[in-house]
Amino acid sequence: MKMKVVLPIFLLLAISCNKAPFSANRTNVILISLDTVRRDCWGQLVGSKHLDMPNIIAIYKRFKGIIFTNAFSVSHYSTPSHMSVFTGLSPVVHSILEIKKGSLPPTIKTLAEILQQKGYTTLAFNSNPVLAQEVGFHRGFEVFINVRRKLAPAEHLIKEAVKYLKIARQKRSPFFAFFNFMDAHADRSDIGQNFLPYYSPPKYRRNVKVSKQEFCIDQKCAIQWLKEINNRRISVPQETVDKVENLYRAGVKYLDHQLVGLFSFFDKEGISKDSLIIIFSDHGEEFREHGFFDHVQPFVETIAIPLMVMIPKQEKPKIVKAPVSITDIFATVLEYLDIPPPNYKLDSVSLLQSDLRSKRLILGVSHPASEFTFFTVDFPLSLKISPHKNKTKLFHLIQDPFEQNDLASISRNRVADTKSRFHKKLEYLIKKRDKIYEDWPREQPYSFSPELEKTLQALGYL
Ligand SMILES: [Zn+2]
Repeated sequence: MKMKVVLPIFLLLAISCNKAPFSANRTNVILISLDTVRRDCWGQLVGSKHLDMPNIIAIYKRFKGIIFTNAFSVSHYSTPSHMSVFTGLSPVVHSILEIKKGSLPPTIKTLAEILQQKGYTTLAFNSNPVLAQEVGFHRGFEVFINVRRKLAPAEHLIKEAVKYLKIARQKRSPFFAFFNFMDAHADRSDIGQNFLPYYSPPKYRRNVKVSKQEFCIDQKCAIQWLKEINNRRISVPQETVDKVENLYRAGVKYLDHQLVGLFSFFDKEGISKDSLIIIFSDHGEEFREHGFFDHVQPFVETIAIPLMVMIPKQEKPKIVKAPVSITDIFATVLEYLDIPPPNYKLDSVSLLQSDLRSKRLILGVSHPASEFTFFTVDFPLSLKISPHKNKTKLFHLIQDPFEQNDLASISRNRVADTKSRFHKKLEYLIKKRDKIYEDWPREQPYSFSPELEKTLQALGYL
């Protein structure tokens, strides 16, 4: 196991004495990022035939959670999405789009920094290498642990977290804990050894019959096979696509099972009843619904995300259909704890507001390699925009939940109307970004440790 810790465990007990006295309520805050988990893994509550996370749904019922069935990310890959969770800002504003370009300016405050200032013990348990300290993801965390292990990372991440949380629990101050689980992500840890694009222990994938070299091409296997199929636009029989998807879902089921252990620990320690817990994913995954594997384009299978909020003393479980954004997690935490937001305008509204607007434009950015630069959800309309190619696609998410019928050529008025709302919002966000970045170079040079550089290269990020 390779691990990087900002602060050794024995110092954790000693750090609260220099902090501001804690005066508000003692609610702990727990954010759980299920990296790459598609919304449709949550079954019929979110309108899906797949139930890959029955334990999460049981937790929803037991904890009386609030599930948001129309939650959208602001990107289809990890770096900008997570930074939007941490800052409550659109990726256009925080500008952390790629891990090797720039770091967060000090004028932007992260959730961990704000909570740390309020006396919280702040802990991160992370298995995603792109949530790199060099970019600013570590800011405000007293402990930032990266767990990178060949197989079964959820088990190890939870084991580490339990050690630290037990200590944090002994302190008078509440804690903020962030988790990132990469178990649903294409297998990045065992490249060329298990030959499968997604890892899960054998018992979770016993119904998927695969031969040893099935996911290898020119000696490139597993995650590299997915990338080769994408890059070379190779056609794949539907039977193979189904196997890939089933292997992915096996990984999600494994993660779901592991989370039972984490929540049992929360119950045992009494954490469940005095914590604000938010479970979400940063983006989904593609199985060639729009021609590719992985999560390389902004279609509904990658931008629709599962999202659940659990607050102490919620009377009954609730389903909310209003469109919401991943950026809203930030405002939800601050509002619930009665902490004032930073003095710049956020792109975030509390998910606990009783009158969440049904008309809200969610603006997202794509990976630079994607055909589309931006996307918006102006629910139920979903627009993909490629300004340099002058290309637009429009879908109606209620009539066409899988985004299969492009309406751009037959609904020109709708395209024009949504595009004009998009342009107005984009202009506003760019102005805001320029103000925040006034004294901060947008592309700061920095270097990664050789170990991280190697991991990122293997994943194809660099
Ligand atoms: Zn991700």
